[in-house]
Amino acid sequence: MSLLVIGTVAFDTIETPYGKAEKVIGGSCTYISWSASYFHKDIKLQAIVGEDFPDSEIKALQERGVSTEGLEIIKGKKSFFWAGKYHENMNSRDTLVTDLNVLSDFNPILPDSYKDAQYVMLGNLTPEIQLSVLNQLNNRPKLVVLDTMNFWMDIAMDSLKKVIARVDILTLNEEEARQLSGQFSLVKAAQTIMDMGPKFLIIKKGEHGALLFAGEHIFFAPALPLAQVYDPTGAGDTFAGGFIGWLAQTDDISFENMKRAIIYGSAMASFCVEDFSIYKMKTLSVDEIRDRVKKFVELVRFDSEVSE
Ligand code: AMP
Repeated sequence: MSLLVIGTVAFDTIETPYGKAEKVIGGSCTYISWSASYFHKDIKLQAIVGEDFPDSEIKALQERGVSTEGLEIIKGKKSFFWAGKYHENMNSRDTLVTDLNVLSDFNPILPDSYKDAQYVMLGNLTPEIQLSVLNQLNNRPKLVVLDTMNFWMDIAMDSLKKVIARVDILTLNEEEARQLSGQFSLVKAAQTIMDMGPKFLIIKKGEHGALLFAGEHIFFAPALPLAQVYDPTGAGDTFAGGFIGWLAQTDDISFENMKRAIIYGSAMASFCVEDFSIYKMKTLSVDEIRDRVKKFVELVRFDSEVSE
């Protein structure tokens, strides 16, 4: 069951109350792929970088079993660059710079070996590009998950709505769900967004966890309370990578298995924020992930005296 991942592979400069990291590795596709690689071994990465992107980072992904056949490297051009600064509470941030660089010419042509992917993760990227990838697939995949952000709602709402109509699951943060739906209540926002096409919606609430909506059903996954969050960048992508990595590996897209997937995604995100960039994501072990998932289970386990 191959998992196709598209998104940005980038450099980020990040400022948090705990320090600054200049021109470190980032990008939605990078975080998703690293996170998913702990669950699934047949990952196909589709992205674009400039010649400034380190070869060692591409090799590190290949060593995790990620195919980079679809990674375009453009000579004489620079990689996508994003800079952000977090506020004191770390829940909100300001984007300081978005330099599209190579992304402005990105017109991905999927290698033949990618076209039968059964699981597709459309990471945060220009909606037109997300659409073009869907159009190149040989068959309708078993599951398509879409992530996006306010940046694209502001400048490309029409094409964004076309992609949304074609996916199974959309992931957004609270503000984005409100912006997209025009509703303040997240329950009403979810209904409005699911009416646009997706059968499922995940609303990420940062340190307050995530909500999974499926028709009338709602599942809540907490975030692990951490003593110190160093850098929340990429937490949403890491969450998405763990979520779809688990689903692709188990090849089970039932609501019950999505509940497990959302906990695995949350566990991966809890590691991501413990250091800058992808540093923590590169060093995890299966045992650490298992122990972290147990902490999530403990966090919400209680004996209910309510009878059926
Ligand atoms: P997240 O914190 O999950 O929103 O993801 C942050 C990552 O997304 C950073 O590593 C950035 O390189 C990347 N990013 C920021 N802005 C955009 C954008 N407009 N499109 C695609 N990727 C972006």
